[in-house]
Amino acid sequence: MRIDRIVLTHVRIPLVEPFRISNGEVAVKDGIVVALESEGLIGHGESSPMAGSFYSSDTPESCWQQLTTQLAPAIVGREFVSLDEASTWMDRQPASNFAKVGIETALWDIEAQRRGIPLHRLLGATRDYAESGLAVGLYDETGQMLAAIERHLSDGYKRVKIKICPGHDVDLVKAVRGRFGDVPLMTDANASYALSDLPVYRELDEYGLKMFEQPLAGPAFEDSAILQRSIDTPICLDESLETFADLERAAELKSFRIANIKIQRVGGFRNALKLYHRCRELGLSIWIGTMPELGIGQAQGAALSALDGCDYPTDVESSLRWFRDDIVTPYVEVRDGLIRLPNQPGLGYAIPEDKLQRYLVARQVIEQ
Ligand SMILES: [Mg+2]
Repeated sequence: MRIDRIVLTHVRIPLVEPFRISNGEVAVKDGIVVALESEGLIGHGESSPMAGSFYSSDTPESCWQQLTTQLAPAIVGREFVSLDEASTWMDRQPASNFAKVGIETALWDIEAQRRGIPLHRLLGATRDYAESGLAVGLYDETGQMLAAIERHLSDGYKRVKIKICPGHDVDLVKAVRGRFGDVPLMTDANASYALSDLPVYRELDEYGLKMFEQPLAGPAFEDSAILQRSIDTPICLDESLETFADLERAAELKSFRIANIKIQRVGGFRNALKLYHRCRELGLSIWIGTMPELGIGQAQGAALSALDGCDYPTDVESSLRWFRDDIVTPYVEVRDGLIRLPNQPGLGYAIPEDKLQRYLVARQVIEQ
C-alpha cells in the first residue's frame, strides 16, 4: 500500500437545530474530509471533533493543524506491506486521535476497495444493516424536547436517548415516559455528575432505562464502580474509555457494563476493533456512538455497528436529522429504524466535489 497523495478539505454545514449537551452548544458542523490516494484508488475518511472543545480538547482547528503540517506530510510517499502495518504506524504518531482517525479510516476504505468487498465485511460484520437510535439534545423547554422526539420517531428509531444535566434529569425522563410510554430509553449526562449525585441516579433507576451513559466526570472509575453497585440500570462509559488501558481498568473495577465505542474518540478502526474484541472477551455489551460526524463518519459508524455483539442501536442517524445537507451521496437514511449498508466495495458512498466546494472552509493538497 503506497500513499501517493492526500487532499484535506475542511467543510462546515449548518445544523437543522443547535445541538446542546451538558457543557456546550454548536449550531454548525465542522468536518475535515480526507481523500487518500493509493495506487489508483481513493479512500475517504473524516476527522470530526466537535467545535468549541466541550466534548474533548480537540477542535476542528487543532486537527486541521495536525493533519496538514504533521500527519499527511509524514505518510505521503510511504509504502506499507499491509493495512495493519499502515494503521499501526498511524497509531504511533504523536497526534490526537481525532486527527489520526481521518487518515486511518481512509486506509480501511482503500483496503476494502482493493479486496472488492464492502467496508463492513472487511471489519468483520455478518449483518447488512445497523439498528439506529434517536438522540436528542438539551432544550430550554421540556415541550421542545418532546416535540423533537415526536418529529423523528416516525422514522422507526429503535430507542430514544436524551441528554441530561444536573437539575434537568428526572423531570425529563418522567416527561418522556409520560408521553411515549415504555419506548426503549436511555440518558447521557456527558460526565456532568459526581458521586454525590447518587440519589438522582437512584431515582432514575426506577424508570426502567436501558442504560445511563457517562454519568460521572472522570475517568473516576472507582466512583463509577460504587455508582454501578448502587443501581440496577447498567452504566455505559463513553468519554472515559479513551484507551485500551482505560477499558482494562474500568472492567477490573466493574465500573460499567456497556461500552460506547466511538471510532473518532479512539483514533480509527484498528483501535475500535481492539476495544470491541476485548469487550466481547469480558462479556461486556457494546454499541457504536457518534460525535455526530458528517456522512463519511456516520457511514463508518453504521458499518462497525453491523458486527455481532453490538447489542444496542447506534447513534448514527439519518443525514438530514442533524444537518441541512450532507457531503455523501446518497444520504445516510434510516428506514424502519434500520440503516441498510451499501454492498459496493469500500465505504459505498460517493463524495461529490460540488458538495465539498459548497461548504468549503479550507483545502490543502499534500503530495510528494
Ligand atoms: Mg455520550
